[in-house]
Amino acid sequence: MIDCLFCKIIKGEVPSEKVYEDEHVFAFKDIYPMAKEHYLFIHKEHSENVNDISRNDPSQLAQIFGAIEAFTKSNKLEESGFRVVSNIGENGGQTVFHTHFHVLGGEKLKGFGA
Ligand code: AMP
Ligand code: ZN
Repeated sequence: MIDCLFCKIIKGEVPSEKVYEDEHVFAFKDIYPMAKEHYLFIHKEHSENVNDISRNDPSQLAQIFGAIEAFTKSNKLEESGFRVVSNIGENGGQTVFHTHFHVLGGEKLKGFGA
């Protein structure tokens, strides 16, 4: 996908702090962390948002969530708890149009009734 920041991160054309990678999924530290731990999980195949990925190939969602499961189990986030967020479109606050899931944790998170 031309000029997609996260596609460039996957290819290594833009540097990132990688925390997880498998055949289908790539994850790295968010450059502006909103919690003590803040990671972004993305599929290696470009799609624009969660509705786009659901329409085109929902199995990719299972691959992303499988990666989140493996990662959070191995680094204790599963034990302490974490939050998964995906912003969609303008009102959702999406700024990068390559589907991504924020994984937030490492501290007690506020908001969403907490
Ligand atoms: P969103 O606003 O939901 O589209 O999320 C995009 C996220 O990407 C934001 O939390 C940004 O801080 C993060 N971000 C933008 N550029 C980079 C980058 N080069 N490396 C890591 N994270 C980035
Ligand atoms: Zn992309």
